[in-house]
Amino acid sequence: MSVASPLPLLIVVVLAGLWVVWLWRQPRRQAHRRERLQAAPFPEAWERILRRRVPLTRSMPPDLLAQLKRHIQVFVAEKAFIGCEGQPITDEVRITVAAQACLLLLNRPTDYYPRLRQILVYPRAFWVPRTQPDEHGLVHADDELRAGESWDEGQVILAWDEARDGARIPDDAFNVVLHEFAHQLDAENGLSNGAPDLGSPQRHVRWAEVMRAAFAELQGQVARGEETVLDPYGASEPVEFFAVATEAFFERAQDLKQVQPALYTELARFYRVDPAGW
Ligand SMILES: [Zn+2]
Repeated sequence: MSVASPLPLLIVVVLAGLWVVWLWRQPRRQAHRRERLQAAPFPEAWERILRRRVPLTRSMPPDLLAQLKRHIQVFVAEKAFIGCEGQPITDEVRITVAAQACLLLLNRPTDYYPRLRQILVYPRAFWVPRTQPDEHGLVHADDELRAGESWDEGQVILAWDEARDGARIPDDAFNVVLHEFAHQLDAENGLSNGAPDLGSPQRHVRWAEVMRAAFAELQGQVARGEETVLDPYGASEPVEFFAVATEAFFERAQDLKQVQPALYTELARFYRVDPAGW
């Protein structure tokens, strides 16, 4: 009778143990790596790009600007930028996009858009194939021109000219980067429904009340052909409403605070900043 050697089993157990320890230490390694990135000096060339390309940063309180720079350093180290259709990925592209994306992270505990792996950048608006059923149930293929897209599966797609102009004009409430990254925040709790993770059920109840009323108000204004602070596109569905409200919150903060104070307050509680005072 032969007896099986216990050695292979022992090796498997040791390897499994090492793997568990490696996984267990992963968050701590990531935290240390981020601390190192944040502690590194912010390159002068990036500073110049911020001043030139993202004018909103010129009026931000200094402590928030310092925080934003630390976030940018982590963001550009962790996220892959991929140029499409010949778009070069320069520091100009990376810092301009990262600065706007990281505005949404200020003062909040953040894991830096954990589901997001890469940002695809096209030179200009891009066509995406779409299929839509008509009222008879027939499906039609129809291409659509897009300035940006946010995917739940780890990807944001941007048109560089739109991302650049969105930053360059900081007070028109049109900002494709803020819009698409608001969709990323919305999807972080696993549900893209116009409500990001707010922490408690009570907060969700209040959020739903305020958003429902503001959404209905925008739909009414759009139907009556009135001028709106929010992009009328926000009246299409609640998911778009949150993304559009985020654009207005950062880019037309004073106007939004004046005409929709409850909406402004709710967004300020979530984003933990007060851009009306910048
Ligand atoms: Zn959208």
